[in-house]
Amino acid sequence: MLTIKCSRCKSKLYKYYKVGKGKVIKCHKSRIKKQFGIYRDNGNYKCKCGNIIGSDEDSYIKMNNKAFIYTGTKEG
Ligand SMILES: [Zn+2]
Repeated sequence: MLTIKCSRCKSKLYKYYKVGKGKVIKCHKSRIKKQFGIYRDNGNYKCKCGNIIGSDEDSYIKMNNKAFIYTGTKEG
């Protein structure tokens, strides 16, 4: 399980169950386990500080790779 955090304010955004190796480019919504300070605004997902984390693509979030950091281990 990964913990996705905002790169600007370091707030936790959500926990994500990642399948497979490699970078976090998309986050499938069905694998987002727990949401903290993230909200949807105008087709984007934002941190409460206003940082745009990614865009809403229906079944997944297309991540803005400069906007987030993560901790934890990749599984699968
Ligand atoms: Zn933030």
